[in-house]
Amino acid sequence: MENNIKVHFLGAAGTVTGSKYLIDTGENKILVDCGLFQGLKELRLLNWDYLPVNVAEIDAVVLTHGHMDHTGYLPRLVKMGFKGPIHATRPTLEIAEIILRDSAKIQEEEAKRANQEGYSKHDPAEPLYDLKDAEQAIAHFNSMPEGDWMELFPDINIRFQYNGHIIGATFIEMDVLGKRFVFSGDIGRTEDLLMRPPKRPEKADVLFMESTYGNRLHPEEDLEEKLKEIIHNTYQRGGTLIIPSFAVERTQTLMYIIWKLQQQNAIPKMSLIMDSPMGANVLQVFNDNREWHKLTPKEYTGMCQSFRIVTSFKETWEIISDTKPKIVIAGSGMISGGRVLTYLQQYIGKLETTVLLAGFQAAGTRGRKLLEGADQVKIYGKHYPVEAEILNLEVLSAHADQAEMLDWMSDLEKAPERLFIIHGESEASAVFGTKIKERFGWKSEIPELYSIVDIPVEIE
Ligand SMILES: [Zn+2]
Repeated sequence: MENNIKVHFLGAAGTVTGSKYLIDTGENKILVDCGLFQGLKELRLLNWDYLPVNVAEIDAVVLTHGHMDHTGYLPRLVKMGFKGPIHATRPTLEIAEIILRDSAKIQEEEAKRANQEGYSKHDPAEPLYDLKDAEQAIAHFNSMPEGDWMELFPDINIRFQYNGHIIGATFIEMDVLGKRFVFSGDIGRTEDLLMRPPKRPEKADVLFMESTYGNRLHPEEDLEEKLKEIIHNTYQRGGTLIIPSFAVERTQTLMYIIWKLQQQNAIPKMSLIMDSPMGANVLQVFNDNREWHKLTPKEYTGMCQSFRIVTSFKETWEIISDTKPKIVIAGSGMISGGRVLTYLQQYIGKLETTVLLAGFQAAGTRGRKLLEGADQVKIYGKHYPVEAEILNLEVLSAHADQAEMLDWMSDLEKAPERLFIIHGESEASAVFGTKIKERFGWKSEIPELYSIVDIPVEIE
């Protein structure tokens, strides 16, 4: 007898953020990833929409990795009546915990600000979720092994496979009524400083393929050389190097490279500071999950000891009052909040300062404005002139580029029956589809947000 599995594209369809795919077998409903929409306002407003499915009927959630655009909607889902387990690898759940608590705090602060400044249409403005909601979602977490098949429900087996994007990150294989569904998650780089190369799927009847950098090849830049030069120049001016950084992975990578340069005496001796409570929590995840990354115990300890790891605000002021040249890594990565704001208030008006942006800067953020040459920046309602040197490190990416993604698919034994290109801006996805056709001769499609697709299966 023939039946249909229904696939609902509830996010990251035609865009990068908001990853959510619902697989409905008729018997069971499984949600793969549960991310928040981020970036432009029209996207963020989607987080407030009701999901066009009955949330209480979803039996389980499975997560590819801990990033906000894959997990940030979980508290909302639980608030809307989801009662089942949330499965992922142990480090993914640990990262998700850190991210959800931080996200709840940001939501609460935003609602508070909206109330104070009266810019919300709702009176009073409500947060999308609060800390209590985040804790309730965390209570549903259930850790799964990497590399082993597990039965999720009768006739539904699942396997989480290492894909090297961030600590804990996997792609997910799901055998549903005899068909293999593969969700790529975000694929990591073949040669990463901290992560091992991604595993590759050998079989996929239905493939959900990310396309973040579907139209790009990462530049081949010598990261160490470039950082060395920037550090030297700042030191010679007697200045402070401020690196706004994402707490998950980017901060640890930067710490590792800077520590290595200092070990090799390639940079002058100066104070190294990592000022991010969230970054410190992520370091703990690295400590507790040694088999998930490439750092040896010696490297991990060396890098942690060479940095002053700051978690209290009082210490931040101590560091600011010390006028000697230093390197400060602080959140947040796009300067949209966090400790880095306090440093910039003090340092951005100084000629000898360097601000090094490390990674993607979204439209509308302070990071993007600085990148585009703004001559002043607004922090906590006050304008500060930009006298510091503003630089950008493009090469630090946790994402596979076009060539690496094509290679990741190259072990598949035959063309997938359906190949969905997801998790990309429309141009990146379209270009990637053309490349897949060129290299493998396979057809692909870019699903629309909220579309539903039927996958036929044989049942007895
Ligand atoms: Zn990610």
